[in-house]
Parts: sequence; structure tokens; C-alpha cells
Amino acid sequence: MTNRLVPIAALALAVAGAPAHAQAPVADMILVNGKVITLDDASSVAQAIAIRDGKILAAGSVEDIRKRAGAGTGIIDLGGRTVVPGLMDSHIHALRAGLTYAVELSWIGVPSLARGLDLIREAARTSPPGTWIKIGGGWTELQFPEKRGPTVEELVAAAPDRPVYVQRLYNTAWITPAGIRLMKLAPDTEIPGGKGEKDASGNLTGVFTGVNRTFNFFTAKIPGPSFTDQVAGTRKYFRELNRLGMTAVNDFPGGGMFPEDFRAVQTLWSRGDMTLRVAFHISSNSQHTLDDFKALTLFTPMNFGDDMLRYRGIGESLTQGIYDGSTVGLPYNPGARDWEEFCAVAKWAAERGINVHQHAASDRAATKILDCFEAVNKDIPIAAMRWQIAHIENASDDTLRRMKALNMGWAVQDRLVYSGQIVLKALGPEASMRAPPIKTALKMGLHVAAGTDSDQVAPYNPFVSIRWLLDGKVIDGTPMRGPEESPDREEALRMYSRNAAWFTFDEARRGSLEPGKYADLAVLSDDYMTVPVEKVGELHAVLTLVGGRAVYGEGPFAALEGKP
Ligand SMILES: [Zn+2]
Repeated sequence: MTNRLVPIAALALAVAGAPAHAQAPVADMILVNGKVITLDDASSVAQAIAIRDGKILAAGSVEDIRKRAGAGTGIIDLGGRTVVPGLMDSHIHALRAGLTYAVELSWIGVPSLARGLDLIREAARTSPPGTWIKIGGGWTELQFPEKRGPTVEELVAAAPDRPVYVQRLYNTAWITPAGIRLMKLAPDTEIPGGKGEKDASGNLTGVFTGVNRTFNFFTAKIPGPSFTDQVAGTRKYFRELNRLGMTAVNDFPGGGMFPEDFRAVQTLWSRGDMTLRVAFHISSNSQHTLDDFKALTLFTPMNFGDDMLRYRGIGESLTQGIYDGSTVGLPYNPGARDWEEFCAVAKWAAERGINVHQHAASDRAATKILDCFEAVNKDIPIAAMRWQIAHIENASDDTLRRMKALNMGWAVQDRLVYSGQIVLKALGPEASMRAPPIKTALKMGLHVAAGTDSDQVAPYNPFVSIRWLLDGKVIDGTPMRGPEESPDREEALRMYSRNAAWFTFDEARRGSLEPGKYADLAVLSDDYMTVPVEKVGELHAVLTLVGGRAVYGEGPFAALEGKP
């Protein structure tokens, strides 16, 4: 330690002895008169920030930062607004959501079923006759005062003769008769993992229930958007995330996403048109997972890419055989061969130094996954690879301890905002008080990052997710997680920035507002630290910078968007 401290002290003296304004580099831009939550180690709050070459030059008092301004420096007056490090979702399916964002309807954040049906009515009027109208998950009846989903009759009334597909989470789909005809579904059609409801005479009613693969089966029958629409949708979706203060995602492909589907984001990247930093992962949708991974990674060594688009490993399912569904409490019985296959992929990844990010909804699955990771670790230490498990809403202390021992990360999402009632029933009210046990994990020193698992099982809004981190409530207001396991405001913010950066090996480059790090930040609509907790979900950005470039601006900052 002494060896390191001496040169730092010497450097400090040298700087103090020189006239600061004469030597300090001049900022391209300064932001003044703000409440800048830097999230540095000392939790400093600054009033101003200086930016040069897309990176933070300094954060400090207005007086100090003004000294960094030269003749050509842009000066932005924050008017007392709060600034936070750019938010990063540590587990999201953003690339998949972007593909359809320009053409698909969404009920995410829609306040009532009546309004949802209005959107379908409008789409029926404004889109070409005969084309599909699709709502691909991302909503629950709990967000509606009606407390129910649509009926097929209501969908037909809203869009007569049109094929309409409405999916709720991964449990129900409503399909109109025109849609059933186009999908060529009959009463005897085999529906993978699910079933179609039938009326007294044995005809399909248009209501279908099932699991993930059931809905992948249906959506594969709906023609996707054109490539141009995919690129436009991705661009538009990234801007929507920027509007919510987001500057980065840790992305997972998920069901229905294939290698060719990465072309849209690659196109934005090659045009220099990325407004969001994307760490992407690859997964296999086939039964020959290990062979797929071997082939897919031949041309993508770990960390290939740049700070806007980079390959960061495999996930969120190493193999399909051990998948335990999207909530706790589902039947789960993988066989010995499934585990063998899973461990073979994990071992292969460890041998190549590949990061692994694995799905486990339940502690039961996580326990078995850790058996395998610990066995792999005996031969090949995995600590430096920062392997991760996502979800585990009912994680036991033992699971968290085992993850900590392997230097793993735990990605927590606000999935219970939507599915809280289902999990509350499965776990009971007492166990739900610690769903998930965030404080316990933080106290252990485990790396815990936040996110949403959007787009089909939760809304993508980071502030809705942070509100849930703070108060643990289901979307209808039902209390669930208790205060003992809920982080405070700064901890929740760290989970969405600095901790999330660790998950993508980026903590030295972003996640806090400190000199040398990227100027990735969001100026907020209200003060995150002091608004009532129930208002946290309504926050958004009025200005978002990625690498010092304004990727979103509104109100007094609207003219800055796209600059410099
Ligand atoms: Zn998952």
C-alpha cells in the first residue's frame, strides 16, 4: 500500500503547487448549478461537472468547474436539477424489443383496458387491412382498473375482420378468428406446452394458455417487421430508453431471437448511430446447444467490439433442458442428462474464459446450477469471469453465500411488479417479505445489480423498477417485500449504475461521475433523492448524455439533442 500512496501524494502536491487554470485542460462543455449525485466512493454530491472528449474532466463546485471553461466551452445551466450517472439495465431483452418497436402496439404503461382497446381500434383504422395487430406481452390486468384482460369479442369489435394477437406475460394469449385462420390453428392442433380453450361444440374460443414456448410458437407465425422497420424500431426504442435516463444495457437475446436478428443493431453501430451502450450475449435456440455455441463464438472472442456494442458472453440460458419457467412455483424436474448437458456447456465456457449469465427463477434451480458451477470451479477457477445468475426471487441465504464465494453477480429485476400476486400465492406472505432478499445480499458483499427483464414480463422503465426496489409493492399497490430487505435510494441507484457496470466489466469506464469515466449521465425531471417514493416511478430524464453527446433532450434542453 505504501508504494502506491507515495506517488499519489507527490502528484497531489505538484498539482496544488501549480496555477490550476494554467495547466488544467479546457472543457468542451460544463454543466453548472445542479445537484450532481456522483456515486463515487465517498457518495459526493457536486454542483457542477466538466466534460472533455466525451469523458468527465472534473466534478465539483460551480466555482471550480467554471475555471475549466474556455472561450469555446459550452455552458449548460441545470437550474438546480438533479443529475445521476446514466442508468444501466443489467438484464433486459432490448434488442428483441427494438426489432418490433416501430410497428407493434404495446400495452406497457397503458392505464386501462378501455384505453388498450382504443389503441387497437386506432391501429385497425391506420394500418393496412389484413395485417396483424399484435400486443406482445409486457402488461398485466393488475395495471387496469377493470382488473381483467380483453375478451376475444372485444378484440373483434375493436378490429373487425383483422388478425389480432394479444399476449399477457407468458401465460395467456387472445387471438381473433381471422388470426386463428391465418395461423392455421384447428381444435386438434398440437400447441407446445399449452392448450386452446374450446366451447361446448369443441371449437377454439381464441383463448390460449401455456408457457414460454407456447407463445414463441404463436409469434413465429406472425410475419415480422421489414428490415428497415427493424432498424427504425431499434433506433426509436433506444431513444425511448434514453428518455428514461438510460445509457447502457446488458442484453440477452431470449426466445425467438436468432443471429440474423442482430443485423438491426449492427446497422446502427456501423452508421455511428448508437445512443445506448449495448453489452450483448448470445444463446442457442436449438437442441444442440454446445455445438451452436462453438460455432457462434468462432468469430466472436470474449469482449469483441467497442464501448457502444460489445460481446460479453453467453446467456441467459446455457441449455433449454434446465429452464425453470418465468416465475417461482412452476413444476420443475430436469433429468440427469439435462444437468450433464448444462454442465458440459458451463465447463466449455470456463475453459475459454467466457462470461456466463444464467436464468433461474427459483432457488431450487439456482441450487442445482451452483452445484455445477462449483464443480467446474474446482478445475478451472471462475472468479475472474464474473459469472451471474438472474432472477431467483426466493433466493436463500445459502445460495447467495455460494454465489459470493465464486465472485458471482446476482441480477435482480422488477418482475414482481407484474407477477407479484402469482409469486405471493406460491411463496405465502411471510416468505414474500424477502422476495427478493436484496439487503441480505448487499450486506454479504455480493455484486447485486438491478434491471427489468423487459419486454414481455415487465415494463422497461428503470424508475418503475427503482420504485419497486424501494417499496417492494406490486403494480396494484399490494405490499410484498418488507423494508428489511429493501435498499435505500442511493443503494438502489448504485444497483442501476455502478453495480450494473461491474456485470459488463465496465466499472472503470462508467457507472459513476468521476474524472476519466465516460460522461454518461441523466438530468432528471425531479429530485430522485427527495420525491415521495410513490412518485419515483414517474421520474424521467430531461437531458441524457452518452459519451458527452446529448442523446435525448426536452423542454429547455430540446435543442441540444444530437449535439455535439
Ligand atoms: Zn430469464
